[in-house]
Formats: sequence, C-alpha cells, structure tokens
Amino acid sequence: MKIVMLGAPGAGKGTQAKQIAAKYQIPHISTGDIFRANIKEGTELGKKAKEYMDQGQLVPDSLTLDLIMDRFSKDDCANGYVLDGFPRTIPQAEALTAALNAKNDKLDFAINVDVPDSNIVDRMSGRRMCKCGGTYHVKYNPPKKEGICDLCGGELYIRDDDKAEIVAKRLDSYHAQTQPLIDYYDAEGILKNVDGTVNVDVVFQNICSIIG
Ligand code: AMP
Repeated sequence: MKIVMLGAPGAGKGTQAKQIAAKYQIPHISTGDIFRANIKEGTELGKKAKEYMDQGQLVPDSLTLDLIMDRFSKDDCANGYVLDGFPRTIPQAEALTAALNAKNDKLDFAINVDVPDSNIVDRMSGRRMCKCGGTYHVKYNPPKKEGICDLCGGELYIRDDDKAEIVAKRLDSYHAQTQPLIDYYDAEGILKNVDGTVNVDVVFQNICSIIG
C-alpha cells in the first residue's frame, strides 16, 4: 500500500499518517521529521534545511528528492509506505511518479485532509510535540495530562515553525506550491478527500473506509 497524505500544514495529516502506518504495518515517512532529526544531529543537510524551514519556506526540491529517494531504498519500504509532507511541489510529485513508473509501480491513494484556512492558524498554534514523536493539540487532541506526553511522560513543546509569524508564510507556500497537487492527483484518479475538521478518530475511520 502506497499512500500520499495531502493537506495544509496543521490539517492533521501527520496524526492520521501515524495511525495508518500502525494499522497497515507500513512505514510513516515524514520529510519534516527527517529534516528535524538532521537539524538536531547538526548534519550538513540539517544546516541547509534549517535556513529554509526557519523562514517558513520549502526546502529546495534537489535536497528533498535526494533525501527521499535514499529513504525509499530501505528494506522497510518493500510493502509500501505512507508519505507525510512529501511531495510538496509538482516537480516532487513528478519525480515520485517517475521513480515508481521505473519500477512498474504506482501510488494507491492520495488522501487530502481538508481543513479550511480559517481553522489552520488555530490548529498550528495549538499543536504540541514530544521528543518521542508524539503529537497533540491542546483543543482537538489533548494529552491526558496538560503539557505531558501520554506515550513517554516527556514534556511537550511548540515547534519553532508553529510560531505565529512563521505560520502565515507556511500557509502561503502551501497555497502556492502544494495545493496544486490536489488537481495533480485528481487527474491521476487516486485523490480522496476527507473532512479534517471532525474528531481525529472519526477522520481515521473515514480514511480506513476509503483504503479498506
Ligand atoms: P512538516 O513537518 O511536514 O510541516 O515540515 C516542516 C518544514 O520542513 C516545512 O515547512 C518545509 O520547510 C520542510 N519540508 C518538509 N517536507 C518538505 C518537502 N517535501 N519539500 C520541501 N520542504 C519540506
């Protein structure tokens, strides 16, 4: 099963991607997580990516494509994957299609988690993260104990690029560069829209009923 998650930043696609990965036993591949891990480790890639991420801009396609193609070559991708945050531009989507075609392969679904812009700022400012990978929202997906991760007991924090001044820029790059992917995958016949404004568990049920 090969799935691409689409949706504005803060729409909840990462939360859904993790649940899909667990249920269907496929890896959850988030380019944002890979960049953040590189930043934490202080790698050259991390240093380059940080310059763009801190400005709310997309990392250039060349860097992103090298990174993701390397990730696809790992053994755990043999049965598919759920992609979260990739592709984010038409050239990235075309490169993915070409890489799959070269192996006589294709994507199964592109799932668009649809949340109107008016909700996005609220979504992003309420998002809380944990070092262990846990993600929460103070209103829509709160941890059992405020500020503490349900999974590991770690202290939750706000991502640097979820701060108000960066959020608007991320939303601009979403509209300019990523939203066109909805039409791209619609034309490929694999686009599925789900309402992302309902409860997280309901969003997941709706996704499961689409992918079977
Ligand atoms: P995310 O965690 O998916 O919201 O990604 C955080 C940031 O990482 C984005 O705002 C971009 O700066 C960068 N990023 C993640 N994935 C990509 C991608 N596929 N192409 C370009 N930049 C990306």
